[in-house]
Amino acid sequence: MLATLGPPMARPKLRTPRLRVLVTAGPTREHVDPVRFLSNESSGRMGFALAEAAARAGHAVTLVAGPVDLQSPRGVRRIDVASAREMLAACRKAFRSADVLIMAAAVADWRPARVLPGKWRAKDGGARRATLSLVRNPDILATLAARKGRRIVCGFALETGVGEARARGKLARKGLDCIVLNDASALNAARTRCVLFERDGGRKVLAGSKHSVARAIVARLCARASRP
Ligand code: C5P
Repeated sequence: MLATLGPPMARPKLRTPRLRVLVTAGPTREHVDPVRFLSNESSGRMGFALAEAAARAGHAVTLVAGPVDLQSPRGVRRIDVASAREMLAACRKAFRSADVLIMAAAVADWRPARVLPGKWRAKDGGARRATLSLVRNPDILATLAARKGRRIVCGFALETGVGEARARGKLARKGLDCIVLNDASALNAARTRCVLFERDGGRKVLAGSKHSVARAIVARLCARASRP
């Protein structure tokens, strides 16, 4: 007698070819000394939602994550990093074989000029004021976009003021295909409202859970990457 087999494991139906998608997420951490660092409020949720959406759509996903408290989405190759320079090194490697880059990480613009080998003891001399000297971190997105070739590269812009003009400026200046503009209310939240700008003038408002917005962004970028 024949055994009855259940339906085979469903493979996601791809409307576009299987692509290699590189996503970054979370903050970076820039150490001052072994126990203190500069960082920001990014939770990494948007980047993780993007990685999950791309994996669920059947793409091969590498997720480069700053320090976050989130579980890896299923089927995603995750690389953990701390500082912007570590993120740049991991991204440079993964970018070589990527078709799409989505740079959702909140990379620190600055890092301390010097990392102290021991704990900073500013109080010992009775000082009431101290100065921390900072140097500029590399711009990962602009660095990679300069060598993008046929890849599709998407950045994020978190703006508090007149966001649209600034986001469009970054799209052009950093040589991107798309940029997603959101505001500070998206930080650490489950929902978001953002605007996706494309280099050819496209503008689309996306609002909802980070998961549904992530699916829409991934679909748009992967469709772009699959154009002949
Ligand atoms: O210029 P701004 O920091 O607003 O640009 C935001 C975009 O640039 C994000 O996609 C962010 O991941 C990326 N970025 C970067 N390296 C930096 C700063 C920002 O890749 N040092």
